[in-house]
Amino acid sequence: MAAYQVLARKYRPLSFSDVIGQDHVTRTLINALGQGRIAHGYIFSGHRGIGKTTIARILASALNCRNIIGSTERPTPEPCNQCESCLEIRQGNAVDVIEIDAATNRGIDEIRELRDAARYRPSRDKYKIYILDEAHQITDAAFNALLKTLEEPPDHIVFMMATTQPEDIPQTIRSRCQHFSFHAVKLDDIVGQLRTIATAEHILADDTTLSLLAEAGDGSMRDALSIMDQAIASAPVVDGQPALAADQVRELMGTVSNVIYEQILEAVHANNSADVLTIIGRLLDAGNGAPQLARQFVRYLRNCVVAKITGFIPGADATGVTADLLQISAEERQRAARSATLFTEEELSRFLSIMLRTFDELGYRQEQRFHFELGLLKLVHVQRLVPIEELLSQLGAKPTNTPSTKPSSISAPREPVANSPFVTSSARATTTESPFASDASRKTPVASSLGNPGLASETWDRTSTTGSLALAPEPIAPAPSTRPQLVVPPVAVAEPIVIVADPIITEPSIVNPPAETLSSRPESVPSADIAEKPAVSSANTLDLTELQHTLSSALAAVKGQTSASEQIEDATLTLNDNTLEIQTTLSKTMLPVVINAEAERILKTTLRSTTFAHLTLKLIPGAPAVSGKPKSPRAAASGSAADLAQKHPIVQQAIQLFSAEISNIIDLREK
Ligand SMILES: [Zn+2]
Repeated sequence: MAAYQVLARKYRPLSFSDVIGQDHVTRTLINALGQGRIAHGYIFSGHRGIGKTTIARILASALNCRNIIGSTERPTPEPCNQCESCLEIRQGNAVDVIEIDAATNRGIDEIRELRDAARYRPSRDKYKIYILDEAHQITDAAFNALLKTLEEPPDHIVFMMATTQPEDIPQTIRSRCQHFSFHAVKLDDIVGQLRTIATAEHILADDTTLSLLAEAGDGSMRDALSIMDQAIASAPVVDGQPALAADQVRELMGTVSNVIYEQILEAVHANNSADVLTIIGRLLDAGNGAPQLARQFVRYLRNCVVAKITGFIPGADATGVTADLLQISAEERQRAARSATLFTEEELSRFLSIMLRTFDELGYRQEQRFHFELGLLKLVHVQRLVPIEELLSQLGAKPTNTPSTKPSSISAPREPVANSPFVTSSARATTTESPFASDASRKTPVASSLGNPGLASETWDRTSTTGSLALAPEPIAPAPSTRPQLVVPPVAVAEPIVIVADPIITEPSIVNPPAETLSSRPESVPSADIAEKPAVSSANTLDLTELQHTLSSALAAVKGQTSASEQIEDATLTLNDNTLEIQTTLSKTMLPVVINAEAERILKTTLRSTTFAHLTLKLIPGAPAVSGKPKSPRAAASGSAADLAQKHPIVQQAIQLFSAEISNIIDLREK
């Protein structure tokens, strides 16, 4: 009895016309073969399992086929698949077709060997063909060795490189090769192929099951087939035939029916947290893993967002962009469309953002269940939150303390659910004094110019990595002495928040100021610990050396800040306008680790107790500058956009509250 051969191998295409979903590649290659235009180097790039090495082998067969194109045995440029050469290539033992897995043979020695061998003529066939799989793994030195061959290739040499990362192949190599970019295989194409194979293999499977398998393949024919292999192995036999069922495939994949996610979104829409928890609780109790459920929900939400954006409504036929972007079965498209009708595009995007973050974090959470539930509850809660851009734009609209009575129309706030218990709080929020109002009254020169809500909110929307950041409407206390009631989901902000103050300046030199130039001026940070009165210092005449010692000692006095203290002792202090620059020897990565937020707070507090209280503190990473003055070349000039942005109270508060960094500043001012 023959050993079981996996489907992907058994049904590996032997001719170009059998390859599914890569017509743009096969057509070009057939034409080139027909015209005898053979390149010496080919790059086949694209995701895994979509036919790169398969096409390389077919091309190799076509090049070395014994039968000439146009003969009775071989009427077209397709390989005949009958001659000795074709058969040997198919079995993988052709002398002149050498397959090298670059992932394991990536060294210069192997490539040198290859290059030397390439000088000799093929032993029997027309071409000596090298198929380099995972070519991006080849080392630079080895690529250089390869380049020599590609620069002056002997007529009989053809290199074919298959890679998932073509950008990692040096440009010098790429420019000497024909590059074919492979497409992800369309769901319908995969389903069609699975159906053909199921028929040929006498396997019972309905369309839903085949779609599930195809979806699991995610654009990769090989992956879909390998899941089908597993499904067949575990399928019950009905009338002598393996019978695949949707539930069985889902169980194999650890997924659940998307009906669940439709129900969850309906519960979210109805503001019903209890239902959300009940539904998900049943799944978790049944043994489903939170990460897998979250991952599936992310995909579901993504499809809802696409349905919303492309205007795909329930009952319609998916065409054009919708069909391209929604590579799911017709039934699932309808489901996504139904869920999408419940929410605005903004809400769906925010949901997606929340669940993406939840999914990311589940990986290292101990209590995955609670964390996942919390993520789901946020979806309900997000409906009662006012978008941060809305409040920011309100601030710009009223540089004085006058409370705004209406949210900016540009922010397109969602309508509170009619029967929502949060209507009152939401309404109150919009009439309550903005938490930023106290800062507006203390406004810096750019505060009043934050008055372009459209641009501001749009820019924020586009660049914010934390779509769910929102201001809580309820517990706002208008007292200027309290911290702003910014409510952030209780998770770390992994990515730096991009703060785009509007309107600012275009000076190429100050775009992307280094993160370490972030500074907070004490008088504009209404935090309790910072706003405390500077202690009267006896050290009124500190010079920089003394100051350095004072700062270092202050840290040394605090448990756990010894390293920070030593670093400050070793640092170089420089005065630059009103900035006290502390040039450390720490790398950019290590700086915030060694001189952490607590240490920085101590430094700032200490600084304010000296005559240098007016100075802004700036910690700089890297080796000290060789010339005496370690002035950062990217430091913001006084009055520049970066400078104004850094000093802006909102920016400073955001930095403070979210541990954010300014990563980019865009100037939107009129010239
Ligand atoms: Zn042949």
